[in-house]
Amino acid sequence: MLQATAGVGSQQRVEEFKENTARKIRDLRCPDHHQAPRLRFQGATLRDINVQLSGCCEKLIGLANQKIAAR
Ligand SMILES: [Zn+2]
Repeated sequence: MLQATAGVGSQQRVEEFKENTARKIRDLRCPDHHQAPRLRFQGATLRDINVQLSGCCEKLIGLANQKIAAR
């Protein structure tokens, strides 16, 4: 018997998205300051989830954005 699990499934996808995104920048450090970027997520669904990056300087944010955008 099938049950509706759309809510659970989409929640799991959000967690996967967060893990995958975090993994992409896990080893990233600023070449100038040797700091790791910080990652925050806002939004409960994949459709409106928002990734916020913070770090020591614009250079690190730019590098982190490139890593996250890469597939
Ligand atoms: Zn820096």
